Amino acid sequence: MKFQLACGDVMPGCPTSFSAASQEQLFTEVASHAAAEHGITDVTPEIAEAVTAKIRVVE
Ligand SMILES: [Zn+2]
Repeated sequence: MKFQLACGDVMPGCPTSFSAASQEQLFTEVASHAAAEHGITDVTPEIAEAVTAKIRVVE
């Protein structure tokens, strides 16, 4: 099972996409990318919810 996210689904215009073996790992990758590329150092519950809604689970 893989968890995938296109950053552009949350941050329109961003071409980065993520793929990880667990949702926790995906969140770690997204959080570091968001901090480095989007200046988002505080992942609020609202942001986490928006990200979670866009995660695709691939069997
Ligand atoms: Zn991005």
